[in-house]
Amino acid sequence: MSTFSLGTQPANSAASPIQGCYLVHFDQPYRSGRHPGAQHYVGYADDIDRRIERHRKGHGSPLLAAVVAAGIGFRVVRTWPGADRHFERKLHNRHGSRICPEPECVSARRR
Ligand SMILES: [Zn+2]
Repeated sequence: MSTFSLGTQPANSAASPIQGCYLVHFDQPYRSGRHPGAQHYVGYADDIDRRIERHRKGHGSPLLAAVVAAGIGFRVVRTWPGADRHFERKLHNRHGSRICPEPECVSARRR
């Protein structure tokens, strides 16, 4: 029996999707009744880049939709490629600023 496999090579025209967890840092804290000063968002996606594109249009997360609507910018500051939803839950249980590499969050930890 042949072990030769066909058709598993991804097209090299586009970068292959990155599946895993990601940390989003907002340019300024988002404050509302339900989210007192949230500045981070942790998510899981099969294709992180595509998910972020959707977030920027206000899809996929009520919190990020509200952040976009409030005119606050955000960016992905950390990814964990290959992480699963169990890992996402672990990340949710921590405060985002404790795992964020942004200088303002790092300096806040040292205070
Ligand atoms: Zn941060």
